[in-house]
Amino acid sequence: MQRGSNLERLGDYNQAVILEGIRLAPEGISRVELAEETKLSPQTVSNVVRRLLDDGMVREDRTIINGPGKPRTVLQLENNRLLGVGIHLDPGVMTLVAVNLAGEKVAEESRPIPVGSQNEIIREITDAVNVLIRSNRHKRANYVGVGIAAPGPIDVENGRLINPPLLNGWKGIELVGPLSKSLRMPVTLAKDTVAMTIAEQWIGGGQGHNNFIFTYVGSGIGVGMVIDGQVVHGVSGNAGEIGHFVVGETGVECGVCGRSDCVASTLDRTFLLGLAKEGGVDLGMSEEDIAADPNAALGRLAEIAREGDEAAKKIILMVAERLGSALGTLVSVMDLDTVFVGGHTWNDVSEFVLEPVAAVINRHFLGAGSHAVTVQNTALGTSVGAMGGACLILDSHISPRASSLLLR
Ligand SMILES: [Zn+2]
Repeated sequence: MQRGSNLERLGDYNQAVILEGIRLAPEGISRVELAEETKLSPQTVSNVVRRLLDDGMVREDRTIINGPGKPRTVLQLENNRLLGVGIHLDPGVMTLVAVNLAGEKVAEESRPIPVGSQNEIIREITDAVNVLIRSNRHKRANYVGVGIAAPGPIDVENGRLINPPLLNGWKGIELVGPLSKSLRMPVTLAKDTVAMTIAEQWIGGGQGHNNFIFTYVGSGIGVGMVIDGQVVHGVSGNAGEIGHFVVGETGVECGVCGRSDCVASTLDRTFLLGLAKEGGVDLGMSEEDIAADPNAALGRLAEIAREGDEAAKKIILMVAERLGSALGTLVSVMDLDTVFVGGHTWNDVSEFVLEPVAAVINRHFLGAGSHAVTVQNTALGTSVGAMGGACLILDSHISPRASSLLLR
């Protein structure tokens, strides 16, 4: 329920709208164009721009655009004026990136996922962030804070993880309060797929799309949703659980829902590699190599399927069918035309699986005839989670969202 406007924040809101207008025009935008685009008065634009220039957030360039004519003064974002640190907590690995306002990655670092007590975990993350910030030429003062993309379920209110099924020893770990204290900067937490979706919207293929889903296929599977330009967080910040849609029996018990017929159990690597073995598919890898790098083994399975091996093809088409039917249902519910997919596992198989998955989604889409559904790989690569964390903190710092105007 909307509870009315927070008028004190209206000035901030105008500033955020103008800043976003400048951010989305990397080649520069004039004050007149900004006023037209934002529907704000020239006076308001002029006042806010002066403030942004004073703050060093934007710079003014005299540029001739489109050939002859009077040189026009255009405004451009000072890309490195503000930066955000993003952290992706994934089973086994913690990835950190530093990202500027233009969405450029200025530093990256990964470490094994910390293990130990609450204090030990906080100490390790604090150290990793400090090392990351020191590793590049940008001043600490230019960092707006840290955004964490973590596997759900999360407790946004208290800034802690509830019981992430694949992160051993992280049950109940509190992140936001202790980390912002030890780093002395704002820290914010979101479910990984929500953060990734913010990155897709900010700097990925989702720019300019008001309605889309982002699908993560990695250690788990989940989606992030954008409806009318707003990322869906849900009541508790845990929206996007698609992994336990019922799609077909596997015989492997899902560690989360306990069933053996959900999307997640279908995507279980042990299950798929077991099917390959049963079907006599020769992956050309030793048992040890398969166990050490199951993603690579899945990539090989997809490749063999593409080369025409019938047994491998059957497995890949079964995966495409089940994943595609779950996504097709969601696409129908939301009436979408765009689906982005990313994540470590997806990365290794997408070359062979993207097309069949897209075909199944389109077959399941109940609005077929009105428009097609485009399925594409994320342009953000495997660091999409950490990029998501960085965009999350930058976004919360500068983006205009109607929700920030509502009383809370
Ligand atoms: Zn399940």
